[in-house]
Amino acid sequence: MMTNIRSGEAILAMIHPIYKRRYVPSTDPFVGCRIGCRFCYYRWGPMADLFQPGATLRKLVDAEGYWKALRDSRLVVPGDIVIFCARSDFSMPENRLVFMRFISTYYDPSTKPLKFLLLQRAPWSARDWKALGGYENIIFGTTITPEAAQKGFNRIWDDAQIRGLREMREAGCPPERISLELGPILPDTVEAAIEIAHALAREGIIKFLTYRGASVGGYGDYRAEWENLRQKGFWREEVSYTYFDGKGDVPHEYYRLKNHIPRETEELFLKETSGLPIRIYRHTGHLYAREWGASVAITRNNRLRAEMLPYARPRTLQEVNEVLEREFGITADVNVEEVREAPSRDGSTIPVPPGVLFRLHRPGTEDVAHAIGARMGIGVLFTEFRNQPSPADLDWYFGEGWLVPPESLR
Ligand code: SF4
Repeated sequence: MMTNIRSGEAILAMIHPIYKRRYVPSTDPFVGCRIGCRFCYYRWGPMADLFQPGATLRKLVDAEGYWKALRDSRLVVPGDIVIFCARSDFSMPENRLVFMRFISTYYDPSTKPLKFLLLQRAPWSARDWKALGGYENIIFGTTITPEAAQKGFNRIWDDAQIRGLREMREAGCPPERISLELGPILPDTVEAAIEIAHALAREGIIKFLTYRGASVGGYGDYRAEWENLRQKGFWREEVSYTYFDGKGDVPHEYYRLKNHIPRETEELFLKETSGLPIRIYRHTGHLYAREWGASVAITRNNRLRAEMLPYARPRTLQEVNEVLEREFGITADVNVEEVREAPSRDGSTIPVPPGVLFRLHRPGTEDVAHAIGARMGIGVLFTEFRNQPSPADLDWYFGEGWLVPPESLR
């Protein structure tokens, strides 16, 4: 059991507006959320007090600082979809004020063009569409957790969320600008999840959705809370979640299970939604690439994600070296090799097309792999890989411009 914080990502989460990059960067001007879902994974670590009803959110930056962080950090690349409110909820007035000021006053697409995926669990409304719909680079995201209120996870009712989305559509919001995450889907809520998908698809409110599984983890001993969730049917048992550190598979430092749905539950959901006129995604990386044309890395956890190969844009080794040096400050003395075969999940080897997967003989993190991968539309592997940055890696991030140091954002 991990009892101290050795994760640079956990440190960033408390101090920086950009705290991680998976397929796209996760950002916030404030940390904290008064909705306080019982399953919120920020409650299982040092930020727990900020994710409770009545919490005072922690301010990280103002609107100008937020723009500087996006503009000047190498972890954010032109054309990115930026998640706004990854550690909070867009319904909190603090976030809205900063975002409106940022988008109307500071954001300059000629310097770095970006799209913004606003995450809000509280119901959206027609008013939101009127205030924000004119900014064409905004996507309205929401997570519906089927029966969350009935099960006592939070006080957000599915019906109210659906009504909010309907209002937005009636006010003129096209379905392509609504991003629904449906989940976590649990064995005893899968029927409700199917109904929600049918209702939203039938009414033409959505054109696509991403369905999610349960995640449980923590920095510290949260056994009592995990057990409470287990009794409510949120999860059954730990499911190994690993990354490849360059030598072997290593368990993730935080997760006991991640985005997990029992097989029979997932099969039922897919069977019952297969005839709907909507596109259904399991992972957001596909959503970003297919629905909004974002360039994404084709790796995850320092492994090729073979099903993402269709999004790759082949590059020569020379091009890769030039971009690494010019845009990421990684000089040509780093050995970069092209990778032409990769292990598959069943342990066999799969061939990799030319120019899409490269191995850098140096240390690296998931944040960096995804920034480089997205910039070039390739996959980048490291011989010494850390899924989360170490505290020492943060010095490198701040020193080399991967992230703007937090003090220069104030
Ligand atoms: S709405 Fe999101 S950020 Fe807020 S408590 Fe729930 S899961 Fe956490």
